Amino acid sequence: MSKTTSSSRQSIPAVHRVLDLPAVQVLSLEFGRELTTNAVRKVLADTREAVANGQEEVDEAKIVAGILRFLKSLVTPSLKPVFNLTGTVLHTNLGRAPMPPEAIEAMNIVAAGASNLEYDLATGKRGDRDSHLESWICRLTGAEAATVVNNNAAAVLLVLNSLANRREVPVSRGELVEIGGAFRIPDIMKRAGSKLVEVGTTNRTHLKDFAEAINSKTSMLMKIHTSNYAVEGFTATVPEQDLATLAHQRDVAFVVDLGSGTLVDLTAHGLPPEQTVAETISQGADVVTFSGDKLLGGPQAGIIAGRADLIAKIKKNPIKRALRIDKMTIAALAAIFRLYADKDRLAQRLPSLRLLSRTREDIEATAQRLCDPLANKLPDGFDVAVVDCLSQIGSGALPVDVLPSAALSLTPRTGKRGGGTKLKRLAAALRALPVPVIGHIKDGAYVLDMRCLEQTDEARFANQIELIDLS
Ligand SMILES: *Cc1c(COP(=O)(O)O)cnc(C)c1O
Repeated sequence: MSKTTSSSRQSIPAVHRVLDLPAVQVLSLEFGRELTTNAVRKVLADTREAVANGQEEVDEAKIVAGILRFLKSLVTPSLKPVFNLTGTVLHTNLGRAPMPPEAIEAMNIVAAGASNLEYDLATGKRGDRDSHLESWICRLTGAEAATVVNNNAAAVLLVLNSLANRREVPVSRGELVEIGGAFRIPDIMKRAGSKLVEVGTTNRTHLKDFAEAINSKTSMLMKIHTSNYAVEGFTATVPEQDLATLAHQRDVAFVVDLGSGTLVDLTAHGLPPEQTVAETISQGADVVTFSGDKLLGGPQAGIIAGRADLIAKIKKNPIKRALRIDKMTIAALAAIFRLYADKDRLAQRLPSLRLLSRTREDIEATAQRLCDPLANKLPDGFDVAVVDCLSQIGSGALPVDVLPSAALSLTPRTGKRGGGTKLKRLAAALRALPVPVIGHIKDGAYVLDMRCLEQTDEARFANQIELIDLS
């Protein structure tokens, strides 16, 4: 197969001839025969097309290089780590909470082999997968019982379907929220078989609105954390305690979807206040639901905690089987709960809380250390500066509260024209790095909030600055 410049189809080598090339045999050993044959077919087809369009000469080295490139793209996982410098700590699109080594270790231990996931070692009989978590949840929240499912959306669906199938659920109009990614309370209600009864108005709902909505078909009063927005100004919501009292007087349950759900007092870590799960239960909630990977700082999961009789009913629902969590999630959650048992060291050991409670000074020091290396690498057309910025908690927690932070701001020096294109090209170049860097565009600059770049990761970030390719 020598180099030709012919545009005739005859010059394209046969698949078996390319497979016999020593360089391709080496690839076959590394990537396997099947994938390599696929790659050869694909590259030859592309070459044939290019030749037909008069664009390409047939070159053996180029074909082999193309095969290697295609094979690499096939075997490289599409899901990979990135630097989250967006300023949103619990970023749903970027995988929410980073996990502590304790949780990763726990997943490793159960991943490779058999475990007593649903097997009672004391009796030798069938066990319950919730048993590995339930006592922890009860200890940390004050609940009588608990169960865990795939995520909080699943938790809400399961609670509604178990306790309010073909029954009515009054909810304040101000709480009929849509949470990112198509989770809408009215839609979930419908799918759960529950009838949503809207009470009050968007900005003001009173206890009497709920009282008037209760009838013989009512199964529960529900309160939903308005995670990702805030109603300000002339507003009124009914306190949990009053809703609980009313619900219990009228013999219906009181259910709270807390969304993020924190297990600790966030103000103790310099963060804005957020009602804890334990407080919600002590105020009379019969069932609460919350996420595993939001403020809790663990794996994706939905935790349901509350009254023993209601949890028993929820566990018996066949839908629970379709929403159950796997052994690795259980292992990770148990490890996270163990960290919560030692509150003094929690902020150091739980990455999400450590990032959220980082001081502005500490973050600024990171930005300062990386400013020069970045400025030296970027072409003259960019100004690089350390600037103040505001981070967000994310995942709908505390939507209006922001955390003082520091960022590297990368500004194209082009005056009015061409700045946008340069910014987009810079953002794309940062996304193309081995560990993609994700920031955000603000006021004509590309802003990299350094809150989520811990000192231990600085070298990894700095080492790839050389690879930024703006050509
Ligand atoms: C985030 C959120 C959900 C959905 O939780 P996932 O764990 O993402 O499924 C439901 N309700 C509220 C109030 C939330 O904030």
